[in-house]
Amino acid sequence: MPAELIDGIAVAKIVRAEVARDAEVLRAQGVVPGLTVVLVGDDPASAVYVRAKEKACIEAGMKGETIRLAADTPQAELLALIDTLNADPTVHGILVQMPVPKHIDPQAVILRISADKDVDGFHPVNVGRVWIGEKSGFAPCTPAGVMVLLEKAGVPVAGANAVVLGRSTIVGKPMTSLLVNASATVTVCHSKTRDLPSVTRQADILIAAIGKPEFVTADMVKPGAVVIDVGINRVNDATNAKGYVIRGDVHFASVREVASKITPVPGGVGPMTIAMLLKNTVRAAAQGLASGKA
Ligand code: NAP
Repeated sequence: MPAELIDGIAVAKIVRAEVARDAEVLRAQGVVPGLTVVLVGDDPASAVYVRAKEKACIEAGMKGETIRLAADTPQAELLALIDTLNADPTVHGILVQMPVPKHIDPQAVILRISADKDVDGFHPVNVGRVWIGEKSGFAPCTPAGVMVLLEKAGVPVAGANAVVLGRSTIVGKPMTSLLVNASATVTVCHSKTRDLPSVTRQADILIAAIGKPEFVTADMVKPGAVVIDVGINRVNDATNAKGYVIRGDVHFASVREVASKITPVPGGVGPMTIAMLLKNTVRAAAQGLASGKA
């Protein structure tokens, strides 16, 4: 029997409704949760992401603002803007859309954002807070979204063998910390892993985040495993009007015949990322209110 689909669109809708309710509670206390996104340059894909984030904030009854800076904005000017946003009590979440132009050091940008407003969860303080399981920490939105998908799909994580394919800072590593803190037994794989299929076949939960289209094939998956596909890859396709199609890191058609549950691409992990960004922003506002900063 083919695997059950884990519907990220439906789960993201539930999370966004929860966020809207939390935002309403905060508004009643005089605080409008606010996210400010800073976009440096005019990368078309980044512009699309930024618009989607702003729109999602407004739909959830939050303040969504985008500050657009020219591509040649000096790093010092961007850092000064972050200082201003850090000090602004109406801004609860700050996100600088990556990638930034080459003359700007992304790490300097991440370090400048107040950890309490770092709703992307990239600041080392938040990386540490999440690793030690401190609830005030912000986890990066994509792996946090995967945890919610597992929960809503009724997948038992405690005690499960989880294999994370990929060790990036934005997905693989934070995914690992979240799974460890949820009491899974976690193995992390990367490009130097030997005999990868023998490792991935141990997984009760397999998370693919390597950025290689349809890399995970049925022979790499244990029958009955839960497979979460984080990958978003453009694959050229002349038959498609856009000239490309989007594929995950998992060969969906074959793996679906082996797994018990699977996320599709698109419509799986992708929609969760913005939903979790809203959730982090509302929590930042609530934490700010509780600490007297909002
Ligand atoms: P990344 O920074 O390029 O990291 C890829 C990881 O995969 C690295 O750790 C790399 O190992 C490992 N890897 C590459 N080839 C491998 C191979 N043949 N065997 C084993 N491991 C291999 O990618 P990322 O930023 O984590 O993104 C991964 C995918 O998720 C991409 O498709 C991206 O578009 C997607 N993504 C989706 C969302 C979303 O909202 N759904 C968000 C973020 C990313 P090494 O460390 O050894 O090089």
